[in-house]
Amino acid sequence: MSVWTKKDPIVSIQDVHKSFGDLEVLKGVSLDVMKGEVICIIGPSGSGKSTLIRCVNALNDIQGGSIKVEGVEVSDPNLDKLALRKKVGMVFQQYNLFPHKTALENIMMAPLLVLKQSPEDVEAHARSLIRKVRLEGKENSYPGELSGGQQQRVAIARSLAMSPHVMLFDEVTAALDPETVKEVLVTIKDLAAEGMTCILVTHEMGFAREIADHIYFTDNGVIVEHGPPKTFFAKAKDPRTKEFLDQIL
Ligand code: ADP
Ligand code: MG
Repeated sequence: MSVWTKKDPIVSIQDVHKSFGDLEVLKGVSLDVMKGEVICIIGPSGSGKSTLIRCVNALNDIQGGSIKVEGVEVSDPNLDKLALRKKVGMVFQQYNLFPHKTALENIMMAPLLVLKQSPEDVEAHARSLIRKVRLEGKENSYPGELSGGQQQRVAIARSLAMSPHVMLFDEVTAALDPETVKEVLVTIKDLAAEGMTCILVTHEMGFAREIADHIYFTDNGVIVEHGPPKTFFAKAKDPRTKEFLDQIL
């Protein structure tokens, strides 16, 4: 077996098939992500975007094809899921913070319980993450005292607390009030600028255009079209892509 190096894709998805019962939701999806890249997955509701990124951290199993993260096959029945999920952070539309824990405590929880690091180190890291997501002063606030956008930034910091190598974002701004969307997008932009590898499912086309190295358009379980933002937005050829972009732009 060849050894993974940083020159190889950090995430390599090859001909992935995924079904729920009789319903085939992913019908041979392939895409590679290099370290430090930001890729955006766009497409109509129900086209399999969430299913695909949930396969990357083994929240979904796959029935065919291969997904490798840093060279490790995630469909291997002997996969160390905990090791994978330390490497691959995920943030969802619903941030699901613990309501009776402060922002800082929410961020500290997983590293304390899972990584078994010293409380001092975990707290120092959590405070640096609070600054990174621009929430200084909110350390001791409870989720109920924070706006949706602020809570989502705590959720991002919580995920970063495990020091992931790859971040998955599934429509993280879809449930937010319009005025707080931007602050979450800024946080993601900061992360990308620092070189974090990001796979984003998003409906924020302006953001995708600005931030993505590569855009993938999915429809009905296949990648219909992909390319760097410039070509993707200017020269979409497939009628399904055009129709989608016409509706959304
Ligand atoms: P998207 O994120 O692009 O909106 P999803 O990946 O959520 O699409 O869903 C793709 C298809 O898979 C939909 O038809 C959805 O109903 C179906 N699906 C998703 N999750 C499940 C599940 N756990 N069980 C059965 N069907 C599912
Ligand atoms: Mg989805």
